[in-house]
Amino acid sequence: MNNIYDLYFSEIESFLKDEGEPSFRAKQIWEGLYQHRYSSWEEFSSSPKPLRQKLESHFSITSLIKVNSVFSTDLQTEKILFQLKDSNYIESVLLRKDNRLTLCISTQSGCPVGCIFCATGNLGFKRNLSSGEIIEQVIFIMKALEPNEEKLTNIVLMGMGEPFLNYDNTISAITKLNDANSLNIGARRITISTIGIIDRIKQFSEKELQINLSVSLHAPNDLLRQQFVPIAKKYPLRELIAACRSYFDRTNRRITFEYVMIKGINDSPILAFELVKLLRGLNCHLNLIPLNLTSHFMGKPSDTSTIREFGKILLEKGIATSIRDSQGSDVQAGCGQLAGKIIQKQH
Ligand code: SAH
Ligand code: SF4
Repeated sequence: MNNIYDLYFSEIESFLKDEGEPSFRAKQIWEGLYQHRYSSWEEFSSSPKPLRQKLESHFSITSLIKVNSVFSTDLQTEKILFQLKDSNYIESVLLRKDNRLTLCISTQSGCPVGCIFCATGNLGFKRNLSSGEIIEQVIFIMKALEPNEEKLTNIVLMGMGEPFLNYDNTISAITKLNDANSLNIGARRITISTIGIIDRIKQFSEKELQINLSVSLHAPNDLLRQQFVPIAKKYPLRELIAACRSYFDRTNRRITFEYVMIKGINDSPILAFELVKLLRGLNCHLNLIPLNLTSHFMGKPSDTSTIREFGKILLEKGIATSIRDSQGSDVQAGCGQLAGKIIQKQH
């Protein structure tokens, strides 16, 4: 059965046309999905019953089942585990900070990239999510927030998976997130995080959207990067940085680089100076993130003093740098960690 959230408006119109239904019904259905966020076809009371039955026999409207949710001790972070129709798992993370309510969503179940410190990478690749499955994470959480009249302020595609290895479905999902007649979330409130799939960054630049792009760097040279990001062999840093430059030139959006700090591995002052050289002249922001501990990777997070020292070198050389607190690390909000636990239990 098809997921109704996989469809564009025009596809709903053609379905209705094929079924001999009037075209104005498409708008009613669309509003039911994106404004009222109904979770069963019965609720579409503006559509006649025979049409509702037709829709029900062709399309699913809820394909995610919430299996588990874990809160951080300060209750500011909630990690939600969803089961998909084919019994694969994905995670979404809701983060409260200051006046922001950010939802971090998945684009794949598992991930084929296999970064050695990443719990999702360790799970291996299960499959791409459809655009509907990406969107539904947002719809589900929006609905859950309704009783308290809370609203999401930001969406980050930084959960399980590599968005640019599921390019078409990711683009289709962000189109619907952004579209004024769908979820109407401003492009500047949406962030895509990628490990650096260069051809897709270029393709994405050409769309000239105002979406924030975040690139996971983790090292200032190819040799070191290849040690924990296997795909780095295919995508050299020089070309990656050039693609980031052209993203900025096309969109005027400042790129964010993510750099996971691993004790004794990528946190020395020499590497900080090398990073300065790599990023020189690029309008960017660097986030230093202490490694989240995972059960399969023996690395430790860098000491706070080392991270500060590393950040100081970059700041002094004119690179905007911040140290990200590891919000939610006590609920293992690092991507893939909750799904990993459940899958381990099953075996
Ligand atoms: N595949 C994309 C998006 C999902 S990963 C990417 O790699 O950018 C989102 C972020 O979580 C990445 O920056 C990744 O480096 C980070 N991450 C993964 N495992 C982590 C861990 N154990 N500790 C800290 N950050 C981690
Ligand atoms: Fe995949 Fe990102 Fe994890 Fe690397 S860090 S394995 S790209 S999800």
